Amino acid sequence: MLKKIIIAIDGPAGSGKSTAAKNLATKLGFIYLDTGAMYRAITLMAIKKGIVDDTQAVIEMAKNLNLNLKFENGLTKVFVNGQEVTDEIRSAEVNSKVSEISAIPEVREQMVKIQREIGSKGNIVAEGRDVTTVVFPDADVKIFLTASLDVRAQRRLREFQQKNIPITFEEVKANLEKRDKIDSGRKVSPLKKADDAIEFDNTGFTPEEDLEFLLKKINETLRSKGIEILNN
Ligand code: C5P
Repeated sequence: MLKKIIIAIDGPAGSGKSTAAKNLATKLGFIYLDTGAMYRAITLMAIKKGIVDDTQAVIEMAKNLNLNLKFENGLTKVFVNGQEVTDEIRSAEVNSKVSEISAIPEVREQMVKIQREIGSKGNIVAEGRDVTTVVFPDADVKIFLTASLDVRAQRRLREFQQKNIPITFEEVKANLEKRDKIDSGRKVSPLKKADDAIEFDNTGFTPEEDLEFLLKKINETLRSKGIEILNN
């Protein structure tokens, strides 16, 4: 059977989802959908407008936001109302607020609608917290990525250091712990492993080893379902 495919990856912050999803999308020639970037963009705009604590205002803003993601040369560029916010959405300030904003059900509803529209075009690698459970429950391959908290914090710290952002290991670790708690504990679309997801703890693995492992698992899963990839 030839088919347009959806590969869905969930996991906590710093588990390597973005890197794995980008590498897979590049290798397979698929679209890469970074759902976290969408929640980050809304959070950034709410901070800029000074409405982060006004749920109703955030919901209204989310409805009218013109959000665009462009995947170019292995990078996801994020635009809001025509303006690029790719770097700004990764700030410590956005990190500290994004889990609260993404716990608002009406905001999620808006985002999931857009994500499914992108998914309907097929041949996509999507990553986030609820893509295997809520956004694409019928995804052809589901992956749940994890790694130890210390390793995840180390990875995120390195990203901040590369951008010369002053932050300590303890601060990064505390933010990850806080986000994990809110993301896993919320009522709507909590982060959890889907029953039929392949679980992979990549503590101690390099991105190249992750890619190799995941490609093997994806091929095995597709083969067992009798699916062949239909290239765009
Ligand atoms: O993956 P990333 O760390 O960029 O996600 C930022 C935040 O966006 C998460 O901590 C979570 O609160 C939220 N998120 C979500 N659902 C998704 C993706 C991200 O709630 N599908």
